[in-house]
Amino acid sequence: MRSPAGPLALALIVIGSSCFVPSRAVAQDLPKGVTAADLAINNKLFLDLARKALRWEEPAEPARIAGPIYFVGTKGLGAFLITTSEGHILMNTGMPSSGPMILESIRKLGLRPEDIKLMINGHAHIDHAGAFAYVKQRVPQAVVAVMKDEVAAMESGGRGDFKYADDFAYPGVKVDRVLRDGDTIRMGDVRLVAYHTPGHTRGATTWVATIVVDGKPYVVVFPDGAGFNPGYRLARDPIYPGIAGDYRRTHHFLEMLMPDIWLAQHNEYYDLEGKLARARTEGINAWIDPEGYRIFVAGKKGAFEDQVNRELGAGKAK
Ligand SMILES: [Zn+2]
Repeated sequence: MRSPAGPLALALIVIGSSCFVPSRAVAQDLPKGVTAADLAINNKLFLDLARKALRWEEPAEPARIAGPIYFVGTKGLGAFLITTSEGHILMNTGMPSSGPMILESIRKLGLRPEDIKLMINGHAHIDHAGAFAYVKQRVPQAVVAVMKDEVAAMESGGRGDFKYADDFAYPGVKVDRVLRDGDTIRMGDVRLVAYHTPGHTRGATTWVATIVVDGKPYVVVFPDGAGFNPGYRLARDPIYPGIAGDYRRTHHFLEMLMPDIWLAQHNEYYDLEGKLARARTEGINAWIDPEGYRIFVAGKKGAFEDQVNRELGAGKAK
């Protein structure tokens, strides 16, 4: 039932909805009988197609990225381990099914999951927060630290989401530490600052890490909150009051950051595969990408403003 170009087309639509690929151009390549409009209203269909097309649950090899930062995610989803002299920090977990793979990835790197001291997230959707409960069960001493406005979502397992209601529910996890905008965490040589960047979810969190590699400091940004999914209403009859203002403040904030390195919760955003390949010969320089970050943020912002204009334009035509 699926045309050969189906999965790729869906990937472009999912990315396009929050980036800069016009979804109209690929809509005809969706699985037979499915339209882009269907993705906006059918949550379960959207999740099912996206997780396959974007390889959210396909195991991937772990890898060292730069200094204390390691990739421990799946083919499609970014989960990261940051090692410090005071224990490990795990950022994001992927889908609920990926818990065992993430712990195995940490072991493959020669590190111990038992040394995870802190668990943090970008936002509390199933594709990033799905396996927090699994990891916490096996590493009970790990402190789960979450932005204030995302605590309810993490603890309920994504229930009551403004777009997905309970459709994308996953095992919830108790939050041990509530974060506020600008809170700083120091562990060993690593400094992490949590910034509240709402829009995609109410408590989406952008993390800014400062790491030291061979005596040199690097700023590493993990941007979050900037993209919208199919079916988010932003300006006309907004999906929650104030969402457009949240997005604009988030885009403005992200524009002001100046990372050396940037990583994200979806691997295609920051070209994990390309950078991993280049890093074999270029080392840490393969990861230095302030221009890619700038293009990414501009893409999110442009897609958002286009969508707002479409919504308002539809109003005028009435
Ligand atoms: Zn999400």
